[in-house]
Amino acid sequence: MGVLIRGIALPQREEVSFVVDGERLRASSSASTVDDVVEGWLLPGLADVHSHPGTEKPGEAYDHEVFRRHMIAHREAGVLTVRSPGSADQVLSRADDVDLPRLSRGGRWLATPGRFFEGWGRRVTEEELPAAAVEEASNGWCKVIGDWLPDDPPVPLDVLTATVDAVHAVGGRVAVHCQTAEGCRNAVLAGADSLEHGVHLDHSLLPRMAAQGTALVPTFTAFGKIIGNLDESRDPRLKEWILSGWEHAFPTVLAAYEAGVTVLAGTDEYPCGEVVGEIFRLIEAGMPVEAAIGAGSWTARSWLGLPGLVHGGFADVVAYAADPVEDSSVLTRPSRIVLRGQVIR
Ligand SMILES: [Zn+2]
Repeated sequence: MGVLIRGIALPQREEVSFVVDGERLRASSSASTVDDVVEGWLLPGLADVHSHPGTEKPGEAYDHEVFRRHMIAHREAGVLTVRSPGSADQVLSRADDVDLPRLSRGGRWLATPGRFFEGWGRRVTEEELPAAAVEEASNGWCKVIGDWLPDDPPVPLDVLTATVDAVHAVGGRVAVHCQTAEGCRNAVLAGADSLEHGVHLDHSLLPRMAAQGTALVPTFTAFGKIIGNLDESRDPRLKEWILSGWEHAFPTVLAAYEAGVTVLAGTDEYPCGEVVGEIFRLIEAGMPVEAAIGAGSWTARSWLGLPGLVHGGFADVVAYAADPVEDSSVLTRPSRIVLRGQVIR
């Protein structure tokens, strides 16, 4: 089946015309047989860099049918790239499912004593962390729980630095869960590739993050749900910490963007397929609309090593009826979806 894709590609804002050639895009203004024309404002799909397909609640075991359902929910929303920073399964699916979005795997969550949800993730001592991180990063990424509760110590800086160095030495990348100011600081000083949440991040660290290429994934979607459910019975110290973190996160995202830090869209929480809501939060924080869309699309893909809408790039395309930069609400209504060269919609 000949598929012609044409329209205005973002972020270049150039008229493009491709034919689908297997899984790839080939620049061409015509095809010998055209069965379908996909047109409009074109993105290389949306991307959610913080999602945990396969489980819905802390403590649950990985379920492959749930995983498939989650990934299809992403796909239906136009999300064609997902990074899973931590899973209840070591490798998720064994091989890429051709009908599901591209998946960047992060192994199991690496949790040292006193940190993370009871009974979840791979539990290791601080001494074991660097070697375990290398094992979990065999598919590219690993995820370290760098801190947990507000008044508890984070993973010590020397341990985290040894972990990041060991993973980088084998070509892997390290995502660090951090929420406390000290946990965020250790993640930055250790040279982590991404800070997940980073809610109490000290702004004085932003230039260093920009210089060394540490990304920030604020996951507003997840915290918005926590904020919405904060009841009076919660520990007042915890409640104050969560609320102050929420208030701090918005100016942090703007300051990070202005300092040149790569800010990316990740939802964290079930249900899957809600990255557009995260993009709206980034806009609310003050990021320019185009940069916020990039954070949940081309910037995220490029950060994961995937090409955009170029000759020879993957035929992953989502078309919209209007310019999403002019009218971001159109992001909730993808008109056409092509994944790995297959027309989904
Ligand atoms: Zn998470």
